[in-house]
Amino acid sequence: MSASRCGCRDPVPISLVAHQVFCPRRAWLEAAGERTDTAQMEAGRLEHGPVDDVSGSRARRVRGCEVASAELGVVGRCDTVEFDERGAATVVEHKATPVRRRPEITAPMRVQLALQVLSLQEQGVEVAGQAVYFTNHRIRRSVVLGDADFEEARRFVRQTRQTVEAESAPPPLEDDPRCGRCSHIGVCLPDERALEPVRRRIVVADPDTQVLHVTPQGAAARTRGGRVEILHHGEKIGSVPLERVQAVIVHGNVDLSGGLIRELLWRSLPVVWCSSTGRVVGWAVPASSPNGEARLWQHVASAGGRLDLAREFVAAKIANQATLLRRHGEASLTVARLRGLQRTATRVESIAELFGVEGDAGARYFADFPSMLTTQTLSGPDSPAVVDVRRGTRSTPR
Ligand code: SF4
Repeated sequence: MSASRCGCRDPVPISLVAHQVFCPRRAWLEAAGERTDTAQMEAGRLEHGPVDDVSGSRARRVRGCEVASAELGVVGRCDTVEFDERGAATVVEHKATPVRRRPEITAPMRVQLALQVLSLQEQGVEVAGQAVYFTNHRIRRSVVLGDADFEEARRFVRQTRQTVEAESAPPPLEDDPRCGRCSHIGVCLPDERALEPVRRRIVVADPDTQVLHVTPQGAAARTRGGRVEILHHGEKIGSVPLERVQAVIVHGNVDLSGGLIRELLWRSLPVVWCSSTGRVVGWAVPASSPNGEARLWQHVASAGGRLDLAREFVAAKIANQATLLRRHGEASLTVARLRGLQRTATRVESIAELFGVEGDAGARYFADFPSMLTTQTLSGPDSPAVVDVRRGTRSTPR
């Protein structure tokens, strides 16, 4: 295992093995430090918080109990270990389920419990049972583990080592429901696979409305009875309900009545005037356009100095840098460091510190920027040449 990648020399964190059970790619990303703080993780942390407080331990109930197995090469922490009068232990894992919302024992939970039990037994503790306490539901479910569970747990430890020792992440799962509830989806980008065109659904803001183009030269448009009417030489040639209009584009010599312009602006619908050949000559937008208000609040925030907003802007910028490198580059270590700086940016105490984090991220990003560029052919009139922009070399093709 790469010590620098997983943060520990050789023992594998039991939590990392649980990630491996869920998805090997997630284990690799987690070991590489690539993760983002999501609302679901924060909800889980809040629910889990009380059991992380070791001061809540009692004589027969130990919280935050560190465990390790030299034989397996794992380390971990049991949320709670309860001891009966004979001194036998019951391991209780606390789980919040902000995504699944069902108190179900999953495969990663079984493996995690099995490794905790094996570690405790190696430390000379007699284990009488194990359970999961679902914090959202306040339900405790006992878990029975057999030989097959312990064997499977050992196998996953070996697989986890192989996963995190690999130079690059395993490929993402394909069309798998796990991705939809995965905390790492934002950094994993499972829909973006190499050699495949990226498919993104284009979703229109309002599928029930359309842009109205008024093109007949000499026409006039007005509003009557909740509709836009188009007249040409006194004859009505078109009529559209105002509810179906998203914007009005006027081409050339077309008159719009004052009543229609006012009605469109009332409804926050823009009007654009173009020449008869389509060149934009001007437009009208409602006074309450969202852009104007946003600018106003930006100036107010800027005048007051808003470290909280600045943190979010810089963290988002670094997140985008990391995402671009993950998509197109060959610098997984840099991506991991950028994710770390992204988290640091959300915690800095001053603007000066934030500038430092932003600069550090920028230097790392641009140092690996060439790995995102591909070889291109430049064909000038005199000397057609191939330029390998990654290496900055240039050669003339034979
Ligand atoms: S998003 Fe899917 S492929 Fe990526 S780490 Fe999560 S489960 Fe694995």
